Amino acid sequence: MGTSPISLIVHGGAGSWRPGSESAAVASMSTAVLVGRKILESGGSALDAAIASAVALEDNPIFNAGTGAVLNLDGFVEMDACVMVSPGGDFKTTRIGAVTGLQRVKNPIIVSKEVMEETDHVMLTGDGAQRFARVMGHADYDPITADRLADWKDKRSKLESQNDDSSRQFKLRSFLKTHPEFAGGTIGVVARDMHGVICAATSTGGYTLKLPGRVGDTPLPGCGTYASTFAGSSATGTGEYVIRSLACRQISDHVERGMSIAEAVDAMLDQLGRDFDADVGFIAIDANGVPYGNHRTRDMPHAYFSGSSEIVAKMRVEK
Ligand code: ASP
Repeated sequence: MGTSPISLIVHGGAGSWRPGSESAAVASMSTAVLVGRKILESGGSALDAAIASAVALEDNPIFNAGTGAVLNLDGFVEMDACVMVSPGGDFKTTRIGAVTGLQRVKNPIIVSKEVMEETDHVMLTGDGAQRFARVMGHADYDPITADRLADWKDKRSKLESQNDDSSRQFKLRSFLKTHPEFAGGTIGVVARDMHGVICAATSTGGYTLKLPGRVGDTPLPGCGTYASTFAGSSATGTGEYVIRSLACRQISDHVERGMSIAEAVDAMLDQLGRDFDADVGFIAIDANGVPYGNHRTRDMPHAYFSGSSEIVAKMRVEK
């Protein structure tokens, strides 16, 4: 395993950002990278850096994770998060923690880390996840912001006026395509520490008006979050496509078979484009600490650094 360089990359969700909100989103990306970078530079682990960057983004209400998570069809929040680290490249040393359907907790990504460190399990869901969070000391916390509630009310009434047949609410994709202005905002981090360990962490509220009980790609290892000794990655966009393609695991497999990290991510994006015209994006880091992000949506705020480089932050990869 190599010793350097340290590196870290974050994303703030694939989608379309509202005009006027772009600079705040990009600045928040840089801030989140800096939080993790300080930990890596002082010899801290990829896990601690990724969690710290993820917490900074969960606590920022402009992102759809933690405070500011989006509301489901019934008007409440169900948050998913996952963290994964694979220091030894074998199953024995692989560590994963995940939560799904968390409703009243400030930082789901910390709860997922605690599932990994404090239990024999990989994933906790719903009431059980929330009870576990309370035992771990997480206070009761309502993540719904006034902005998200207003978005939900607006969208819910549009949906009702467009759909006279209530069963059509089970198939929301075409409706959401006509309202892209509210999409995106999931957060993800991939970090590589001075020991060459790669950690991936992702946290989300899913998407607005999702059916209660829906679980996306984010908490599913190998789908929205994955880390190996070859590569770590975090996905964003419509999770159902990411799940069907086991996208983040495939990115690692592509790298293992010899692709560069950019080729691996772009190959996955091409395949998801061909198969589903999927609205997705990824960030990733390989074993050499090379960070890379790309997306099929108009926007995906992201920022990264590697070694002693400046932090690069942008709203989108220009095509
Ligand atoms: N991937 C997330 C999900 O499907 C949503 C997103 O990234 O915007 O839950």
